[in-house]
Amino acid sequence: MKLKGMVSVVTGAGSGIGRAVANGLSAEGSRVVLVDIDQTKVETAAAAISSQGGDARAFKADVADPASVANLHTFVREQLGPLNILVNNAAIQVNKKIEDTTPEEWNRQMAVNVGGVFLCSREFLPDLRQTRGVIINMSSVNGFFVEPYCAGYCATKGAILAFTKALAIDHGREGIRVHAICPGYINAGLAEGYFESQPDPSKAREEAGSLHALGRIGQPEEVARAAAFLASGDASFMTGSALVVDGGFSAGLPPK
Ligand code: NAD
Repeated sequence: MKLKGMVSVVTGAGSGIGRAVANGLSAEGSRVVLVDIDQTKVETAAAAISSQGGDARAFKADVADPASVANLHTFVREQLGPLNILVNNAAIQVNKKIEDTTPEEWNRQMAVNVGGVFLCSREFLPDLRQTRGVIINMSSVNGFFVEPYCAGYCATKGAILAFTKALAIDHGREGIRVHAICPGYINAGLAEGYFESQPDPSKAREEAGSLHALGRIGQPEEVARAAAFLASGDASFMTGSALVVDGGFSAGLPPK
């Protein structure tokens, strides 16, 4: 157990990758606060961890809302003490051409995907300074290797990569490590939303797998294992970098 005694917060933990990351951190001994805007989903996810003997709590919050994030901080401090591990994972994805994307959609996507990382990091930095903790930001291969008709989403994921480096250099001397993870297609909510937005979703699903060197899309647990590694002392000399977990998707086009 590499994370025994640690306190973790995972945003967007009601489903998909965030839920798997919360499971993985719990399996390594961390106490975990699962955060999501969807109360039912986050309570179900936390209950599943508790039923396996883990220490998991659910908290409903909108990561784009400063007051909501401040309430989350108060909850964590009161219930568990200072935070060791913050996983900024919550995100939404608008799958539209630029001209079809409304300013409201653009702004909300920026507010959740980038603003949420800023607000949660800002709120918990005093704790992380105290514990010499870790921040893990969920980016995407789309932060540096983009795909059609999700320009705003790609922009948010690129911003997260730059923000990760900035946080790392600003707070490295305080003992805080900051990482990004760049998954390829993962069998979870946002990829599913992308497939459903395509004219032929099942063809899109099949094609996505074939674009990866390993010939398949990934599973949330495969990202969760990378997160547990980065959170642990095994990654003690890593900060400011992005770990690509993409089955070779961004390495190049595989043979047909
Ligand atoms: P998902 O939709 O399954 O889960 C995202 C969760 O975030 C949901 O439970 C949702 O309710 C929650 N959420 C949305 N807005 C929120 C808000 N304002 N405040 C709090 N919670 C909010 O998505 P996923 O596919 O598991 O993606 C998780 C992360 O992984 C995202 O950052 C995404 O960009 C990244 N990612 C996913 C893939 C993929 O293929 N699925 C690939 C690369 C990167």
